[in-house]
Amino acid sequence: MPQATAQGLYIHVPFCHQRCHFCAFYLEIHQARAAEEFVAALLAELRLYGESGLIGPAPLDSIYFGGGTPTTLSSEQLAVILATSRQIFGLAPDAEVTVEAHPDSVTQASLALLREAGFTRLSAGAESMDQTELSRVGRPGSPLNTIRIMDAAREAGFTNINLDLMYGLPGQTLDSWAASLRQTVELAPAHLSCYALTVEDHTHLKASIQRGLLPAPDEELQNRMEDLAEEMLSRAGYHRYEISNYCRPGFASRHNRLHWTGGHYLGVGPSAQSYVGGRRFGNVSDLAGYKAALKTGRLPVSESNPLTQADESCERLVFGLRLIDGISLSKTGVLSFPDITQEVDHLLAEDLIEREGDLVRLTTRGRRYADTVAVSLLASIKGRNAPVCH
Ligand code: SF4
Repeated sequence: MPQATAQGLYIHVPFCHQRCHFCAFYLEIHQARAAEEFVAALLAELRLYGESGLIGPAPLDSIYFGGGTPTTLSSEQLAVILATSRQIFGLAPDAEVTVEAHPDSVTQASLALLREAGFTRLSAGAESMDQTELSRVGRPGSPLNTIRIMDAAREAGFTNINLDLMYGLPGQTLDSWAASLRQTVELAPAHLSCYALTVEDHTHLKASIQRGLLPAPDEELQNRMEDLAEEMLSRAGYHRYEISNYCRPGFASRHNRLHWTGGHYLGVGPSAQSYVGGRRFGNVSDLAGYKAALKTGRLPVSESNPLTQADESCERLVFGLRLIDGISLSKTGVLSFPDITQEVDHLLAEDLIEREGDLVRLTTRGRRYADTVAVSLLASIKGRNAPVCH
């Protein structure tokens, strides 16, 4: 597990070929010219951070290309971004370098180029192995392409592969979820992420539900699907190490662990978030504004918040509780804040958390109400009137 001083780089690529109906992320529909301009701006941003000395001097432990769909960029463009990042910040010899991909957006040849360029991990969005379920939520692609990408990735030399799945999709049943899990396990990825579908504001999916065209997610059914995933995946040799994440031994995502263990990361690209040097800051969520700032030699940061000791402690606790093994209360620093013991006792009595000495973790019930637990703890750390931790 990385130490708290581990450092990562997150690179946000804001393009997709089309918007899935459930997606509320900031993104732009991919166009070659806009992508070229984005890459030029991103390289300028990386150089500005290199000059600032904000990250380093230790080399990066992980680089994560997320989005959007990073593989809407060509493998050559992604390779240039990776090479520039490595040159500016340095990269530990065993660093994890992940690229997210939509199964339709890569070929064996493009994956081979990525592997050659130094990418070590591929994270592909399968979402479901049922074509009808994908179509209902406007998700392009097919289960067949998920199978193909697994073969192509292995041929290209990737061994560390993640597949994303979603449960609680409209019309999905416990049986069809079990079938998706079974078929995914047969593909033998090293890592699996299973996310409950959430209905976000301003999405096509929400509008369809409001018009009665699709059913809203059934929370009870989603809970049973979550339990089924844990049961089937643990039987297949996967370890659940975070609320939504399962892995084969040794394949936990190092990038994600940075977030959950208080590591530092710099985010570049439109809307990317950073946590470095006792500060949380985020980039403007607008490609035009992003490019305009960099054209004039300015960083495209739109908000920046220095963190107090209480902020840092509460964030460590909230993120650490997402880990199935839990987190040491004393290491988070929260014990020096009044009311925390009382709140921990309250959550224990409610069967939302369990405690073994200094270690605290969510119970099965607590995992269902992780956000509520987080808000309760944050309120106890920051004062009863504090609604959230920024
Ligand atoms: S591929 Fe991912 S980022 Fe792009 S629209 Fe679909 S869910 Fe959103």
